[in-house]
Amino acid sequence: MKCRHCLSRKVTEHGVRRNKYGCKQRFLCHRCKRTFVVNDGFLKRKFSPETVTEAIDLWSRGLSLRQIKYHLEQHKNVSVSHVTILLWLREYGILLKTYTDSLKPDLKGKWQADELVHYFSKQHNWLWNVMHKDKKYIVESRYSVFRHQKIADRVFEEARKKGIPEEVQTDGLPNYPHAIRNAFGEETKHIRHSNLQSKRNMNTVERLQGTCRDRLRVTRGFYSVKTGQQLWTILPIFYNYIKPHRTLGGKTPAEACGVNIDRNGNVWKNLIEQSVSV
Ligand SMILES: [Zn+2]
Repeated sequence: MKCRHCLSRKVTEHGVRRNKYGCKQRFLCHRCKRTFVVNDGFLKRKFSPETVTEAIDLWSRGLSLRQIKYHLEQHKNVSVSHVTILLWLREYGILLKTYTDSLKPDLKGKWQADELVHYFSKQHNWLWNVMHKDKKYIVESRYSVFRHQKIADRVFEEARKKGIPEEVQTDGLPNYPHAIRNAFGEETKHIRHSNLQSKRNMNTVERLQGTCRDRLRVTRGFYSVKTGQQLWTILPIFYNYIKPHRTLGGKTPAEACGVNIDRNGNVWKNLIEQSVSV
């Protein structure tokens, strides 16, 4: 245990701090003489970790912000505005992305990449997904306004930070050959499925695209493309770390890639606590 102010280890328990939803152990630092509670990822929140993680979980599972607000009011007797829920999604999205980006899932093997169009804010926007074919891990998922070469390049440059595949399968979109060569050089084989029959091999990533399409349908609460990009960070975390897959024998994609998160109890809470403790 280290002091939150001066990082000294000379700390002792010093009563508890109470707030609206419970109490937390307070500590006294003998070096700087200040007291503190440990940051469990929910420091200074007006709502309990259970409420915050329930809202994040419901959003990940496809409820709109207003539906979540209604659910918490009706079933938990908690009154929270949809703007606050939006803030949670944004803040915890960034925290969890930073943390999970530091983990090292084993992503060797075959990947699939695909893009889908989302008409929003009077324009065509794009959602790019890069996924491990067998382990279902979402390597990169990016929401963009354009479908420029630069964006396709960026998608694979980000994916490259997480691993190098032996093979990437895509459709015939002309942006892929450059983006893949740019990120991986000759190391990675690029398979293009341009006709309908060979596109059948792309079913892993296409199933994900279907889920994403359903998810985008309830995102009128996106307000702007920028908000959309920020909110979208939470979904790969949900698919990779929270949701077990039947086809993976009940494991999450992260577990299939050798990364284990404490799955006892509230997994979102465990993941958030782990994110702030590093
Ligand atoms: Zn101190």
